[in-house]
Amino acid sequence: MPVQNEKLVIRNIGLLLTGKIEKPIEDGDCVVAIGGRIEAFGHEKDLDVEGAATVVDANGVTLSPGLIDSHVHPVVGDYTPRQQQLHWIDSTLNGGVTTMISAGEVHMPGRPRDLIGLKAMAIAAQRWYENFRPSGVKVHAGAPVIEHGMEESDFEELAASGVKYLGEVGLGGVKDGATAKRMVDWARKHGIQSTIHTGGPSIPGSGLIDADMVLETGTDVVGHINGGHTALPDDQIVCLCEKCAQALEIVHNGNERAALLTLNSARELGKLDQVILGTDGPAGSGVQPLGILRMVAMLSSLGNVDAATAFCFATGNTARRRGLDVGLLEIGYAADFTLMDQAQHAPGKDILESVELGNLPGVGMTIIDGEIRSGRSRNTPPAKKLPTRTHPPEL
Ligand SMILES: [Zn+2]
Repeated sequence: MPVQNEKLVIRNIGLLLTGKIEKPIEDGDCVVAIGGRIEAFGHEKDLDVEGAATVVDANGVTLSPGLIDSHVHPVVGDYTPRQQQLHWIDSTLNGGVTTMISAGEVHMPGRPRDLIGLKAMAIAAQRWYENFRPSGVKVHAGAPVIEHGMEESDFEELAASGVKYLGEVGLGGVKDGATAKRMVDWARKHGIQSTIHTGGPSIPGSGLIDADMVLETGTDVVGHINGGHTALPDDQIVCLCEKCAQALEIVHNGNERAALLTLNSARELGKLDQVILGTDGPAGSGVQPLGILRMVAMLSSLGNVDAATAFCFATGNTARRRGLDVGLLEIGYAADFTLMDQAQHAPGKDILESVELGNLPGVGMTIIDGEIRSGRSRNTPPAKKLPTRTHPPEL
C-alpha cells in the first residue's frame, strides 16, 4: 500500500502517453504523484518537485499509464493450474501490465457449479486477490459464471459481498439468450459488470455463442469478439460492431484476422473508443506475458492505427469501460505507469514508429500506486534507454 503523502517524481520523460483516445499524447517531461495518486504532470520547470521520497530519472523514455489486461483467468495467487505455471502474473508485469480483470476463475480444479458453491468461490477469489497482489499487480477477480437457478437475490448478495464482475456468460450451464439477459440485467441493477464468451467453443465442453445471443444478452463487454480461439463469421462480427454500444474486446488468444476486421469496422464506424484489449490467458495457448504489447503492435502495424492510439486500447479505453481509477494520465488517478523505450536495433525513428512497424517496445520499469514494482523487463526485447531511480540511489 502507498505511504500516505509520500511523493514520487518521474523526471526527464521523453514522451507522455495519456491513455486518452481523444488526446493520446500530452506535452511535458515530468509526472508527480503523492500517496500513490497522480498529483501533477507537465514540464518539470512548472511543477513542485521538492521533497520527493523517490525520484526516477526516465532518461528520455516513454511513460504510459500501466497497461490493463481486460480478460484473464486467474485462479489463486501467482499460480495457474491451466498450464501448471508459477509466477505468470509476475511475468505479465514484466510485459508492462499493472492491472488485470478476471473473466472467471474457471480453471479452478473442481470448480463448484452449485449456487452456494459458485457464490462462495467468487467471494473468496475476490478477497484473496484483494488481499494479495502478486508482484503488486492489481487483479480484479471473483467473477462468478452464471448457472441456471440463480435469482435476483443471488446477484444482490454477490454485489453486497464485493463482487464487481461476472465471468464469461456461456462458460456455465446458461446457453440461451433469454435466461442470460435476465441474469445480466439483475447483475447490472446491482452494479456488477458482465462479459460474454463470443464465438465458437474454446475447449471441449464450452459452446458456440453467436451474434444473436450476444445482442440478446446485452453484456457490458462483448468478450473476445475475435473469438477465443474460433471467431464468428465476418458478417456477424461486423453486425456486432454496428449494433453494440458496449466495449468491443479483442484478445491475443483469438483469431488475428477477426481482430483486424473488428478494428477496421470500429474505425469506419467511429467507434475506436469502444475497443479494449485482453489476452484471455492463461489458456490452451498458454500464458502470454507480452500479450498486450503484442496486440498493440499487431493492431497498430496491420490495422492502420497510430501507436499512441493503440496504447489507449490497452489503457484508458479499458479503464473507462471498466470503471477503474487506473489507465489514464489524469490527476487523482492511480500512479500506475509503464516506462518503455524503442527496442534495441528495432527499425523506426522512435518508439511509436517502431511499434507501427510491428515491433515490441522494451519495458524498463513498472510503477504501481507510486511504488516501483519492476525494473528492466526480463521478457521484452532490451530497450535502447532505461530509466533509473536516482533517489534514493540504486545500490
Ligand atoms: Zn472465452
